[in-house]
Amino acid sequence: MAILQKHQCDKMIKRLKSQGITHSDVLDVMQRVPRHEFVDEALASHAYADHPLPIGRGQTISQPYVVARMTEALLAENKPTNVLEIGTGCGYQTAILAHLFEHVYTVERIRYLIDKAKKRLNKLQLYNVYYQYGDGYQGWTEHAPYQAIIVTAAPEEIPNKLLDQLEINGCLIIPVGQQGIGQQLLRIIRKRNEFEQHFLDAVSFVPLRVGID
Ligand code: SAH
Repeated sequence: MAILQKHQCDKMIKRLKSQGITHSDVLDVMQRVPRHEFVDEALASHAYADHPLPIGRGQTISQPYVVARMTEALLAENKPTNVLEIGTGCGYQTAILAHLFEHVYTVERIRYLIDKAKKRLNKLQLYNVYYQYGDGYQGWTEHAPYQAIIVTAAPEEIPNKLLDQLEINGCLIIPVGQQGIGQQLLRIIRKRNEFEQHFLDAVSFVPLRVGID
């Protein structure tokens, strides 16, 4: 990483700590993954700032705090080995997951975005990621059940197919609700006969859309 970017990344890590992120594996990985390589060159100087940025096709890269918070929530109880991500976007969250988990399955409904994300992750030599161009409402049945599922766009209700694809004791991290009117980031744990639900944060994500683009 170039000196300027390293400096901005160090500042981001300091800020994440002050915002309450404590998991050392999450902080370590976010220190190592070059966030500026996931946005257009014209926006690279803002890549480490504390807000989302456009990544094309009306979508955004999640702000660093949200990526850290969601990743920490995935690791809260035990360390899953496989994880399903819905909403690849630019692939930044995917890259973080690829460093922490053995297998990462990622689904994106916009072909332009998933193709670009794949190129970036290959360039970073992250080969434990499997890509699916498709509708995340369907999950990815072929590799189910998953120990963890992370959704980076918000549905109005939790999709049943994602709950079905969760292993017992597995955890789903998902924002739910309409953008602009009180979305909640939730952590759902599948127990033998029920799903436990925990509130994590108030958030603002782009909508999870039905079908492919
Ligand atoms: N984690 C990504 C977030 C991108 S924004 C990043 O940091 O870049 C959310 C992404 O979810 C967008 O790329 C959007 O196209 C995608 N998305 C929305 N609805 C979807 C669906 N039904 N299935 C798969 N991806 C979806």
